[in-house]
Order: sequence, then structure tokens, then C-alpha cells
Amino acid sequence: MKSYRKELWFEVPTRRAFINITPHVDECLATSGVREGIVLVNAMHITASVFINDDESGLHKDYDDWLERLAPHEPVSQYRHNLGEDNGDAHLKRQIMGREVVVAITAGRLDFGPWEQIFYGEFDGGRRKRILVKIIGE
Ligand code: ZN
Repeated sequence: MKSYRKELWFEVPTRRAFINITPHVDECLATSGVREGIVLVNAMHITASVFINDDESGLHKDYDDWLERLAPHEPVSQYRHNLGEDNGDAHLKRQIMGREVVVAITAGRLDFGPWEQIFYGEFDGGRRKRILVKIIGE
């Protein structure tokens, strides 16, 4: 069995953003040489997400508005977590949007359904953060 591991680093200048990381995962897959297997992609930070959905800017604005209604960033004093920090909302947003995705690899390609793409969701940007890509298979 082949095994491949890579950390992808990001530094998002804004507090929140959604980034399509599918090209990075494709590159990892090509380097791994795996033709049949599984890829796991997960955020390594508890204020960021990895999820699969459509690469459509209206949808991404809808996500941001929806998450802000569920867990507004301000006032930061509304969160008990925010004693000495201000990212209480980011922990909640990450929980809703998820930690990781798993995608099947078939014939050397990511075996997506229609319109599926992999995204990094940042909810507390302005610093360097990592995503783990782990590929196993033959
Ligand atoms: Zn925190």
C-alpha cells in the first residue's frame, strides 16, 4: 500500500474566507501516484474547516451571512470563550462547517459528484494555519 502525507499552509489576510483547495489536493494526488484509494483532507486548527460544496460566490456569501447570524463575531463579549481572545465565534463556525472530508480516488482521480469541490473555510485568519492531506491506496 502507498501512503502520502502533506501539510498545506495558508495565511488568509481577512478574518473569514473560503478558498477552493481542490487544485492543491489534485497536485498531492498526482505526486502520491495512488490510482485507487482514499484521500483525507482536514483542517489542523480548531477555528478553520474543510468541506465540500459548489464553487459559487453567491453560495459562499450565503454561508458567511448564515454563519454570522448563527454565531456573530461581535460583540466578542457574548462568548465565555473570549477571556483573553476574540475567536469564540470561529470555534462555533468551524463546528458547523466541519473538520474534514474524505474523497474516493478512482483511476488516479478525485471521484467527485457533479460540482463538488474541496474548500478551506477560515474563520479566524491573519495567521499561518495548516491543512493535512493524507492519501492511502495502491
Ligand atoms: Zn479560541
